[in-house]
Amino acid sequence: MKTQQEYIDQGEQYILKTYNRFPVVLEKGEGVYLYDADHKKYLDFGAGIAVFALGYGNEAYNQALKDQIDKLIHTSNLYYNIPAVEAAKKIVDASGLKKVFFTNSGTEAIEGALKVARKYAYNKDDSKDYEFIAMNHSFHGRSQGALSVTGNSHYQDGFVPKEFRAVFAEFNNLEDVVSKITDKTCGIICEVVQGEGGIFPADKEFLEGLRKVCDEKDILLIFDEIQCGMGRCGSLFAHDLYGVKPDVLTLAKALGCGVPVGAFVVGEKADGALVPGDHGTTYGGNPFATAAINAVFDQFEKLQIPEHAKEVGAYLWDKLEELKDKYSCITGHRGIALMQGLEFDADHPVGDIVKKALEKGLILISAGNNVIRFVPPLVIEKEHVDEMLSILEDCIA
Ligand SMILES: *Cc1c(COP(=O)(O)O)cnc(C)c1O
Repeated sequence: MKTQQEYIDQGEQYILKTYNRFPVVLEKGEGVYLYDADHKKYLDFGAGIAVFALGYGNEAYNQALKDQIDKLIHTSNLYYNIPAVEAAKKIVDASGLKKVFFTNSGTEAIEGALKVARKYAYNKDDSKDYEFIAMNHSFHGRSQGALSVTGNSHYQDGFVPKEFRAVFAEFNNLEDVVSKITDKTCGIICEVVQGEGGIFPADKEFLEGLRKVCDEKDILLIFDEIQCGMGRCGSLFAHDLYGVKPDVLTLAKALGCGVPVGAFVVGEKADGALVPGDHGTTYGGNPFATAAINAVFDQFEKLQIPEHAKEVGAYLWDKLEELKDKYSCITGHRGIALMQGLEFDADHPVGDIVKKALEKGLILISAGNNVIRFVPPLVIEKEHVDEMLSILEDCIA
């Protein structure tokens, strides 16, 4: 058996260094706790970046995956498979949209959504070089297409040529978005709650206004719910809270609860934009990945996960408000249900707080400009919120 440090050294030697990883090797999980290779226990308030909604070791979920492994893991998309058709129906029934395309990641869901909007416009008039309007401080993924609509030059520079970049508008500023629409605009893309950008929920009037202007101009509205969807905001999809439907919805992260799977879902208007041959994937929607989606939906229903997230999220909200009132270094508190953020002033870099918390056995992650992002497993209980707060307060004080 290697020591934790030996694993870290091996990782440094052989894994391409695109992350500054914390010096921890996570080895197993139980409920809302993780254990490292030295058996140290951590309370998990990151859920593998808003992924592991069900917590670690959900028996029904694990059993469903084991059963599917014994039956069939992969088929390709040249044939139908049972878990995929079941999962697609579940997503369509839950969203009220029309059709699903399964991907292997969030980024690929975005790629597909962008292709749908381009093709929809192209089908009407193929004479133009179509473009997107995206939001400042957005995050949509790391492929070149997804980066082209990611409103953060830190991620784009060196990878996306200026001419491929979307036109960027200010989030929650309808006037700014509308002023940037031209006859080349084929789609508007935004997160319903901006995640990586620092936890900024959309305003209701903003989403309603986007819906209206997209209808008027016959362009597609894409909601990226890769992070904020799947129960995290206290309803299955965050846009349900706003009563505004997109033409294309993207999902990933908690959709498979750790099995890499994403999806883009098209509504009535966008259905039919893509025809056979327009898009594809070898793995996407394979029986193993979609069995995970089915197990997630079953558990969400059985455990009433969105309702639970709403209830514990309200408790977390009150507690973080108290913390904000107590410490003047906390300058902002935003979010919905179990997707919340605390912003700190410049004298208190959240990187230091996150590092201290890790030493004390609490996993926290940061976002945007000096924000701690709270995205725990959705099965978290109030007592875990209390446990988190006592460690966090130790780190701030
Ligand atoms: C994480 C994320 C993505 C990218 O998903 P990957 O699975 O990392 O490719 C896209 N959009 C949002 C809002 C995300 O949070």
